[in-house]
Amino acid sequence: MICVKCGLSKSGRNGFFICDDCIEFSPIIQTVYQVIDESISNAEVIDPETNRLLQLIADCTFITANNPQTAIFYKICEYIIHKAYSQEYEITENELNKSVRTTRGWGEIFRLFQELDLISVRVEEYQRVLVLTDKTRKLAGQFDTDSSRSEQVIKRLAHIYAGYVLLHILYEMSNMTPDESEIHLPYGNKLKTLWNVLMFLWVKAYEGTDEFSDEDFVKFVSKRRIPSTTRGELLRALNTMSGRTVQGLIKDVVVNEGQITFKLEDYVLIEMGRIRERVRADRER
Ligand SMILES: [Zn+2]
Repeated sequence: MICVKCGLSKSGRNGFFICDDCIEFSPIIQTVYQVIDESISNAEVIDPETNRLLQLIADCTFITANNPQTAIFYKICEYIIHKAYSQEYEITENELNKSVRTTRGWGEIFRLFQELDLISVRVEEYQRVLVLTDKTRKLAGQFDTDSSRSEQVIKRLAHIYAGYVLLHILYEMSNMTPDESEIHLPYGNKLKTLWNVLMFLWVKAYEGTDEFSDEDFVKFVSKRRIPSTTRGELLRALNTMSGRTVQGLIKDVVVNEGQITFKLEDYVLIEMGRIRERVRADRER
């Protein structure tokens, strides 16, 4: 049997189940999504410097930015944020095709972005035109243009934007049941790698553990059939620490007799502690 969410297999007749880790992780994803969705939808100002949960999303999504399951989302998000940042609020499908390469059609992505109220789509005679909504404009307009750091800022905003979109897909995954696994996901794809990485990291922090070893991590994702090349990429990403340009989840990496220990940044534990309180409060209601 295979866990419908993470891919863990256990013996038993063919079919799907939900593993204990996913049972614990699903309400965490649901709560994080609710909190993020509220702040992106309602806040006047979206500032990742002060909203640490947004920072967490951006930092986490950096880790899988090159993964084939998620790469297309980053590409289109970066493109949209670039446009919005330079106050161009309409994008034709032709422009998009020239700038963002994909072998997949745009329909599924457009549908998802519309669902999240990030774009609306206007149909012209020969092509579709994306119109960026206030929600997207608000996010892109957070910082004054300062050319010296604008590239960095755009990258960061794009990661928050992509993180929000991906979190929505993870939210859909969190609602899957073994017999009703046909929740509609873009291109019918689960984000298995991202799900597994976040499940590992967030549950650690959620339980108040501030460090983990490379062996621990590899064991966890191998059981869920994440291929070894992907595991290597993930470990490399976790090893790359330098504040804003890459992920800022790990504050220290200690190598001792061939074993690597990663230490999580304090803010990750603080944010997950908040989420834990909210999950508990929701449960008691
Ligand atoms: Zn599972």
